[in-house]
Amino acid sequence: MTASIAVDSKLPWVGTTIFTVMSRLAAEVGAINLSQGFPDFQADAALFDAAARAMREGRNQYAPMTGVPELRRAIADKVEVLYGKRYDSDDEITVTAGATQAIFTAIAAFVRSGDEVVVFAPVYDSYVPAIEAVGGKAVYAHLRFPEYRPDWNEVRGLITSRTRMIIVNSPHNPTGGSLDAADLDALADLTCNTDIVVLADEVYEHIVFDGVRHASLAAHRELAARTCVVSSFGKTYHITGWKIGYLLAEAELMAEFRKVHQFNVFSVNTPCQLGIAEYMRDASRYLQLAAFYQRKRDYFHSLLRGSRFELLPCRGTYFQLARYDAVSPLADREFAAWLTREIGVAAIPVSAFQPDGHDDRVVRFCFAKEEATLAAAAERLRRA
Ligand code: PMP
Ligand code: GLN
Repeated sequence: MTASIAVDSKLPWVGTTIFTVMSRLAAEVGAINLSQGFPDFQADAALFDAAARAMREGRNQYAPMTGVPELRRAIADKVEVLYGKRYDSDDEITVTAGATQAIFTAIAAFVRSGDEVVVFAPVYDSYVPAIEAVGGKAVYAHLRFPEYRPDWNEVRGLITSRTRMIIVNSPHNPTGGSLDAADLDALADLTCNTDIVVLADEVYEHIVFDGVRHASLAAHRELAARTCVVSSFGKTYHITGWKIGYLLAEAELMAEFRKVHQFNVFSVNTPCQLGIAEYMRDASRYLQLAAFYQRKRDYFHSLLRGSRFELLPCRGTYFQLARYDAVSPLADREFAAWLTREIGVAAIPVSAFQPDGHDDRVVRFCFAKEEATLAAAAERLRRA
């Protein structure tokens, strides 16, 4: 007889992420995959050459726990030029296995059992499972359709003596919204005289459109002192599969972050870090990213003009939200499945980012794709 144990799940409500579900369905039915966010085009060969050179030069053993110094220095320089704040490359920058690990580790480092963490719904899908896995409780502020703007009065009403952390994401996945200087001032005002840590997910920092400058929390003096800022090279250099990102925080916060980081992952792929460090020396490679994706956004918009989808404003990220009221009466999860199977284009139902499954009947398309992919998808979507 086999022994059986009763597994008392820490995350009973968590299934497989919607990104895996929709990408799998797209592959199964041969649909064009505009669901999970990743480019369908190749990254720059110069980046591969730099990583391969590091491999051939024998840089293949463990990196320092904090990241290779070459990359930490390159990050410090970039952040100083863009946001006017110098993070110390030894004590205030840690290279992580993608933004996902940075986020999980930051939550594990600061959130205790019973602590509350304020998040904004729609909420990126990794935050709440990470909070709950360490015994914290997610408390929801709402970004309401169709503007999806934060309501700082609502946030003020959610803060209690148990609030340990507030997580913001700008530019925002999935809505394409972003925080501006007034938002940051409001957040600074709400948190002053508290011990609340802010976790700022800025993985789309270089993908902000229409001439607007990204308002990084690193650039805000008061907020920077209590904030862990997270970014990801996956988004910036079209290498989501490399899973390399970083976290910035002033020394005291960083020391706590590293206590967990060193036992969570210890260190990150050495030659790829070195490859990125060399590649980053040419700033145009990230400075041109906004224009690159703005062209794709505008192209996708032009292709869908005349379709029955209503496109919502997209200020940043490589995601486009679309209302489909004129196409179908289905709930968004059923609609996304129908669109994938019957029309041949996979999208993400935005209710997947809502804790209560709230459905604004909106889907998310990823436009980080070749023009030919976008054209083929739009041709199908125009028939829907
Ligand atoms: N945060 C947001 C808002 C994201 O969209 C993503 C990935 N798409 C991540 C975090 C995770 O980034 P990484 O792939 O570097 O773990
Ligand atoms: N962040 C990506 C997206 O929003 C997917 C990442 C993942 O698959 N976990 O589509």
